[in-house]
Amino acid sequence: MIIISGPSGAGKGTLIERILQRLPHLCVAVSATTRGMRPGEADGEDYHFLSQDEFTRRVDAGEFLEHVTYAGNRYGTLRSEVERQLGAGRSVVLEIELRGARAVRERLPDAVSVFIEPPSLEELVRRLRSRNTEADADIEARLAESRIELQAMEEFDHKVLNDDVDAASDELERIVDRVTRAAAG
Ligand code: 5GP
Repeated sequence: MIIISGPSGAGKGTLIERILQRLPHLCVAVSATTRGMRPGEADGEDYHFLSQDEFTRRVDAGEFLEHVTYAGNRYGTLRSEVERQLGAGRSVVLEIELRGARAVRERLPDAVSVFIEPPSLEELVRRLRSRNTEADADIEARLAESRIELQAMEEFDHKVLNDDVDAASDELERIVDRVTRAAAG
């Protein structure tokens, strides 16, 4: 199990997309969320988009490995997703924020964690604004989370600085490849 974390706008999604194309034994567990769907997103692919009630029902039913409220929305890793992929012999990547990463590390101490670091807080602000997917208040909430996440970066097993997407995806690929080979024995 590989945890990939880091601030919103650090480029986790892009880097993960790239390494998925290169490492065929790898897959991402699709999380559940209560946030609205962005243009171009698909239910069941980017997230399982749930209503507040449905999310709460699944929390109560013990369906989540971890779940958090982040920038006003709920997000969680479904146990069923992780088990299905592990059962199929794949290495599973979780793309989750800091508190979720901590919870998973506690439950699964063998998980390897990677922090994707943005070049600077200024660059993060620029990327979040130019992405144009979030309202101003939401960007502020994400930046508040990001400041906390950046302070916790030393907790992670590996750090990848994403100032050049090609170099960063090569580095992430090397880390993930090494980890998944070691896990396969
Ligand atoms: P976004 O709304 O930009 O898709 O995601 C916001 C943040 O939530 C990102 O940092 C993302 O990695 C994180 N996230 C996505 N899914 C999960 C999850 O299942 N659990 C946790 N803890 N964080 C998640």
